[in-house]
Amino acid sequence: MSSTMLALLASGEIVSNSAPGRAAARLQEELAQRRIDLITTVSSDDAGAMLRANSAIQCLLLNWDLPGCGNPPALNVLEQLRARNLQLPVFLLTDRETVSNMPRRALELANDFIWILEDTPTFIGGRIQGAIERYSHAVLPPMFAALTHFARVHEYSWHTPGHTGGTAFLKSPAGRAFYDFYGENMLRSDLSISVTELGSLLDHTGPIAAGERYAAKVFGADRTYYVTNGSSTSNRVIVMASVTRGQLALCDRNCHKSVEHAITMSGAIPTYLVPLRNHYGLIGPIPPDQLTEAAVAQAIQRNPLTSTADSQRAVHAVITNSTYDGLCYNVRRVEELLGESVDRLHFDEAWYAYARFNPIYRDRFAMYDSDAPKSHNGPTKFATQSTHKLLAALSQASMIHIRDGRSPIEHGRFNEAFMLHASTSPLYSIMASNDVSAAMMDGPGGTALTGESIVEAVAFRQVLARLKREYNDKGEWFFDGWQPDRVIDPSNGHKHAFHSAPAELLCNEASCWLLNPGDSWHGFGQLEKNYCMLDPIKVSITTPGMQRNGQLADRGIPASIISKYLDNLGIIVEKTTDFTILFLFSIGITKGKWGTLINALLAFKRDYDANQSLSQCLPNLLAKYPMYAELGLRDLAQKMFARMKELRSTAKMSAGFSALPDVDCSPVQAYEALVRDHVEVLPLNLLAGRTAATGVIPYPPGIPLLMPGEKFGQAGSPALEYLQVLESFDREFPGFGHDNHGVEVRDGRYHIYALRREAAP
Ligand SMILES: *Cc1c(COP(=O)(O)O)cnc(C)c1O
Repeated sequence: MSSTMLALLASGEIVSNSAPGRAAARLQEELAQRRIDLITTVSSDDAGAMLRANSAIQCLLLNWDLPGCGNPPALNVLEQLRARNLQLPVFLLTDRETVSNMPRRALELANDFIWILEDTPTFIGGRIQGAIERYSHAVLPPMFAALTHFARVHEYSWHTPGHTGGTAFLKSPAGRAFYDFYGENMLRSDLSISVTELGSLLDHTGPIAAGERYAAKVFGADRTYYVTNGSSTSNRVIVMASVTRGQLALCDRNCHKSVEHAITMSGAIPTYLVPLRNHYGLIGPIPPDQLTEAAVAQAIQRNPLTSTADSQRAVHAVITNSTYDGLCYNVRRVEELLGESVDRLHFDEAWYAYARFNPIYRDRFAMYDSDAPKSHNGPTKFATQSTHKLLAALSQASMIHIRDGRSPIEHGRFNEAFMLHASTSPLYSIMASNDVSAAMMDGPGGTALTGESIVEAVAFRQVLARLKREYNDKGEWFFDGWQPDRVIDPSNGHKHAFHSAPAELLCNEASCWLLNPGDSWHGFGQLEKNYCMLDPIKVSITTPGMQRNGQLADRGIPASIISKYLDNLGIIVEKTTDFTILFLFSIGITKGKWGTLINALLAFKRDYDANQSLSQCLPNLLAKYPMYAELGLRDLAQKMFARMKELRSTAKMSAGFSALPDVDCSPVQAYEALVRDHVEVLPLNLLAGRTAATGVIPYPPGIPLLMPGEKFGQAGSPALEYLQVLESFDREFPGFGHDNHGVEVRDGRYHIYALRREAAP
C-alpha cells in the first residue's frame, strides 16, 4: 500500500510515566517508521465514538484495563465495534494472568493479543502492519479490488479511452483543470473494455462477474447484473427479455417512465393495475382485491387491445415497490395473489435497495425469501434497484436481481436483452461503486447503516409531531408528519401518541408503520391488514389546508411556497405536491442536516405569521417575477390557496387519475405514428376526441395521466379538465409552474402531441 495507514490505541496508560506508557511511546515510533499513524484515546466512550466516526481506522489496539463506561469498558467498545464491523483487526493489550480470567465473549470478539512489555516494538509493529494490510485488502469487494490493483500498475495503453489514464488532459488548460478536479485515480481507473484483466460487463466474466456474484449473495439473488445506465435501463432489459409483441403485461399504473418506454419498445400489450390515491393525492398501493385472479382476468377482458393478443394470460407483471412516498407492499402476499395470474413478477425497487438489510422491512421486498429453501413453483422474480438513489453509488449505478422460479429466463437469453441496452464502453467507476455499495451493506454494516437512517428519521418525525402538538395547544398552526397518530406496542398492548412513543418501539416495530384498515391518517380506506407499510425513512410533511375528509379548510399553505422558501435557504426537497413535501433520510443523513430543516420550518412559520415581505424571504422569485412585489408571504399563500380552492386542483387531479382513459391503440402503435410523423401538436382546446401520441405525465404525482395511444376523452373529460387546471394555475403563478412530461408550453398554453386523425388505426 502506498498511502499512510491508521491505527487507534485505546489505553488509559498512554500518558502516565509508567512502563506501559513508555512502551506505548516506543511502539508509536516503530509504527511511524512503517507509515502507520497512531491516534490515541484514553476512554471507552471516546474510543467508541472515534471508531464510529472514522472508517479510516484500520486497526484497534485496545487495553483491557481501559477506563470508562461498561462492564468492563473494553468489552463495551468491542461489542459496539462488532455491531458494525466484523473485520477490523483488534489486538488486546493485557498481561498473561488477566487473559486466563477474561470473559469468553472478549476472546471471541478480538483477534489477537499484544504483550507490550514483553515483545519488541519491531515484532509488534510487524504484526500490526500485517493485520492492516490483510484488512485493507479484505474490505474491498472483488471488482473494486481488481480495479484498484490494475490502476496501480502503470502501463502504456494503446486502447481507448483516448485520454489514456488522464495524460491527454494535461495538454490543455481546460483539460488540466478537469484532471486536477477529478484527480489522477478517477482517470487512471477509467478503462476500456479491451482491458481483459477486469473481465467484461457484457459477457459477465472475470472480476466484474465476481462482483456480480458477490452482490447476488449480499442482496439475496440467484443472479445479479450490474447496470451502468440506471434502473431506467434495468427495467427495459427485464421487460424486453420477458415479454414481446402480441403478449400481455400487467403494469402498475404508478410506474416509472422507463417502464412505459420498455412496454413501448417491447411491443407488449399493457393492462394496468390501478393504485389507490388519498386526500393529499398521494399514490397508495394497488389494493389486494385488484390482484386476485378474477380481478386480473376482468381487467384483461375490459382492455380492448387484448383481443389481438396470442393468449389471455399475462406473461409479466411490473409493480413499483416501494412507491415514491415510501409505501411498501407485503411481497409475500402480492406473490400469493398475483402469482395466480402470472409467472414472472418484476418489482421496481429503484428507491428501495436497502430493504434487505433491516428487519423492519421483513417480507416487503422482492428477494425476501432468499434464505428459504428454493421453490421452483413460485414465480420468477426480478428486482431493479438504483444503487445510486438511496445507497452510496455513483449516478446511473443500478442492479438487476433475479430469483428463478416458474418460467425462468436463463442467462443466455436474458443477456441478449442486457446487451441490447448496454454500451460497449461502460464506466468502470460506476461498476466499482455498485461493488462498494454491496460491500457497505454486507454483514452488520448494512443493518447498522440502515438502522441509523431509521433512528434519525424517527427522531425528526417525533420532534415535528411534538412541535405540532405544542403549537396546537396554543391554538396555532404547524406542519405535521404523514404517519400514524397513535401506535401500539405489541409486546404489552400499550397505546402511545406518536410524538411520545418510545423511539425504540418506532425504530424496530414494523407494526407501528402499517396502514391499518380504516385508519384516517393514511386515507386509503379499508386496506387489508399487514398489506402495506409506510417506510419510516421516507418522510412526508404535510402543510395546513387539506382535511382528512378531502375537503379544503378555510385557510391553507400550498406546499410549493414552502419548498421555494427552503430552496432559498439552500434546502432542496425531494418532491412537492399540493400539500405535502417529501424528504428522504438516506444513509448519508446526519443530525445536523435534519436539525437545520427543523430550524428552517420554524423560520417559515415566523415569517408566515408576520406576513414577511417576499423581498426578504423569496428574493430570487421576486427578482424574476416583480408581479409579486406587493405581497407578503402569508398574502401569497392565501392568494394561491384561494385559487386552488376555486380551481379544485386536488380534486380534479384525483378525478383525472381515478379512471383509466379509453384506449385507441397500443403504445408501440402510437410510437410508430410519432416516428412516421403522423402526429400533430395541439393546444388543450383542440384535444377533445383525440389520442395521445406520447405519454402525458404530470409531476407530481409522476404517473401517466395518459399513456401513448390513450384517448383524451370528450371536452370536459377528467384528463382534459385536470390539464386545464394545471395550465391556468401555471399562467397565474409564474415561478410555481408544474413540470409535465409530454407537455410543451408555448406562450403559457399547454401543447401535446396527438395522433393525426387519419393515423388512428
Ligand atoms: C428513478 C426511478 C427509476 C429509474 O432509475 P434511474 O437509476 O434514475 O435510471 C426507475 N423506477 C423508479 C420507480 C424510479 O423512481
